[in-house]
Amino acid sequence: MSTEPTFVIVGAGLAGAKAAEALRERGFTGRVVLIGEESERPYERPPLSKGYLQGGQEREKVFVHPGDWYDGHQVELRLGTRVTELDRDRKTVALADGGTIAYDKLLLATGATPRPLPVPGADLDGVLYLRRLGDSEAIRGRFRQARRVAFVGGGWIGLEVAAAARLAGVEATVLEADELPLQRVLGPKIAGVFADLHREHGVDLRLGAKITEITGDAGKATGVRLADGTRIDADAVVVGIGAAPDTSLAAGAGLDVGNGVLVDASLRTNDPDVYAAGDVANAFHPLLHRHIRVEHWANALNQPAVAAASMLGEDAVYDRLPYFYTDQYDLGMEYSGYAEPESCDDVVVRGDLAARQFIAFWLAGGRVLAGMNVNIWDVNKDIQRLVRSGRTIDPAALADPDAPLDRLLDA
Ligand code: NAP
Repeated sequence: MSTEPTFVIVGAGLAGAKAAEALRERGFTGRVVLIGEESERPYERPPLSKGYLQGGQEREKVFVHPGDWYDGHQVELRLGTRVTELDRDRKTVALADGGTIAYDKLLLATGATPRPLPVPGADLDGVLYLRRLGDSEAIRGRFRQARRVAFVGGGWIGLEVAAAARLAGVEATVLEADELPLQRVLGPKIAGVFADLHREHGVDLRLGAKITEITGDAGKATGVRLADGTRIDADAVVVGIGAAPDTSLAAGAGLDVGNGVLVDASLRTNDPDVYAAGDVANAFHPLLHRHIRVEHWANALNQPAVAAASMLGEDAVYDRLPYFYTDQYDLGMEYSGYAEPESCDDVVVRGDLAARQFIAFWLAGGRVLAGMNVNIWDVNKDIQRLVRSGRTIDPAALADPDAPLDRLLDA
């Protein structure tokens, strides 16, 4: 019998696949079991609401690794397999098919699930969510048949998918509960840029919208009804109202849970043999001095290397700044840092908001908490340096396009 340890990874998304890769890269020779509920091998999600949805990106390009990578690296990939229970006393996971796998170390990379829209009619045919590869394909299929699509939620999914709809020639109505789309993340000044962008591309943007019902006929969605009585006709309804972390295994096993699985900066839970990474992990961030849970691609890409190192007993800490990006029509942007708009006292803009070519900086007490470059490239590393420095920066210099960003810390 082998005496090599077994490391089990629950969740075969980007974080799970990257953890398996990192374990092998770091020389782990034990057994690696990567368990995923879906039948597809691990894939990346950004293309599902961008290039792949729009039809410009090949299917094969969405996957994290080539199909033969898993065998080639002795990673046991168990697809179509749901883990039903984590038993920390026995150090086993139970599978829906009745099997059990014993682990020495376990990584939870279970991700998040779209929040369901709690209104009558939400289960009608034509009400669609976007999380999985098949969801993206279903939405793309609808775009071929539909004339009008309604979007519930003007967050990242609502806006990116509405942009794809417009590019496919489909009429789009975006129904956002807040005063502006993305307002909670970006604040009113910058969120307004996204509202204008979509309106200019023909999106019917309804703000402060309260959805009371998805209307239907013969089992099929026909539109959306709002609290003020307005009816919006639609051949399909795409719901993107946020996601909830998949914490049920962790909670069932008595691990510390709170807005995700709570982990320290080494991505370890309160059980030294259990770790978490990706969308599900609410990790202590040493630079921000607080726990944060980041539901973005870069986090799922980069946290697993730290989780793998920690699982192998190395000293490792995840201290990258949150980073995300979007592409909508001709707008491309990158955002780095962490700034809750309500805790910022200034938003400084360098460039031209109306032309959608600018860098925005969110400040509190003169320090840059986050920055976002829109249609300006090769500056995000400089933005990250400003944030990481924790130093007060002259807002006039931040706003001045002639003051090189990489020199601001010299002042
Ligand atoms: P999201 O970005 O959190 O946006 C959800 C939006 O829906 C928010 O603006 C929210 O308003 C609004 N909303 C909530 N309940 C509503 C309701 N009943 N009616 C109308 N609007 C409502 O979530 P998402 O777009 O569903 O995306 C899911 C996850 O995927 C997120 O974690 C997101 O970060 C990730 N994702 C990221 C990217 C990217 O990084 N480019 C792209 C796609 C998806 P409030 O803010 O007022 O609640």
